[in-house]
Amino acid sequence: MSKSIIEAKALQSEAAAYAWVEARVWPQGPVCPHCGGFDRIGKMAGKATRIGLYKCYQCRKQFTVKVGTVFEDSHVPMNLWLQAMYLLCSSKKGISSNQLHRTLGVTLKTAWFMAHRIREAMRVVGVAPMGSDGGVVEADETFIGTKEGRRKAKSGYGHKMVVMTLVERDGKARSFQIEHAGREAAEKIIGENVSNEARLMTDAASYYRHGEFDVADHETVNHDADEYARYERDADGVEHVIHTNTVENYYSVFKRGMKGVYQHCSEKHLHRYAAEFDFRYSNRVRLGVDDVERTVRAVQGIVGKRLTYR
Ligand SMILES: [Zn+2]
Repeated sequence: MSKSIIEAKALQSEAAAYAWVEARVWPQGPVCPHCGGFDRIGKMAGKATRIGLYKCYQCRKQFTVKVGTVFEDSHVPMNLWLQAMYLLCSSKKGISSNQLHRTLGVTLKTAWFMAHRIREAMRVVGVAPMGSDGGVVEADETFIGTKEGRRKAKSGYGHKMVVMTLVERDGKARSFQIEHAGREAAEKIIGENVSNEARLMTDAASYYRHGEFDVADHETVNHDADEYARYERDADGVEHVIHTNTVENYYSVFKRGMKGVYQHCSEKHLHRYAAEFDFRYSNRVRLGVDDVERTVRAVQGIVGKRLTYR
């Protein structure tokens, strides 16, 4: 019989959890977060010593692997952090703070902070332009929830929050919370994130038709005319399928998660939820990333993202 992941040592014992996280965050051995030193570090031992405590004999300061990460200043045992991370990484539509609270036995408030810190770990920083290999990048936007201080309107999208997403076909997703769907936002986000080698595909919204994008090619599909995909040959005779189904599939998971699991999301936090769905999509099974490897990648994302808000 296959072994249950829930029985993994790193999810059950705090010492094993520390060792597991240290091996991922410090693959070459411990690094002092205070001075960057790595060659004069000793592990603190003794009965009264905290788990995972090290001392740097270069700067004479002590540290654990939590210092300088989203786990800093948290008293949650490391194995519970890993349990929460595994749950968030392996649940396609996310997992509510209420569920984390019940499953992990922490307070609802703690569960909420843990989930947001894990989303921060999932946030991608300093990334290269999308589609730089000449691949397809699909762009679209979706409307979600209600903006703060706005009443739900019978029609139109003015009261809703807007997320714009770029998805590389066979690749990653990157989402942005924007104020209005329009030419300004589309040009800025595509300009900052899409390579000029990329083939951009969008729907036929006017801001896409009239926008100026520095890309190798920009094709639109006209959903209003019931056009969902078409085939076109480029100057080199290569056939391309023009559609935005990839980004729409991304949104179907995102919206089911936001409606079914997260339900009420404030404008202030929407970008964090978007980062969570981007992370799972960009590290999905089809790209060779299973639930455990996805958790490893989230753990590697804790570094350098210490959160100071509370
Ligand atoms: Zn040091």
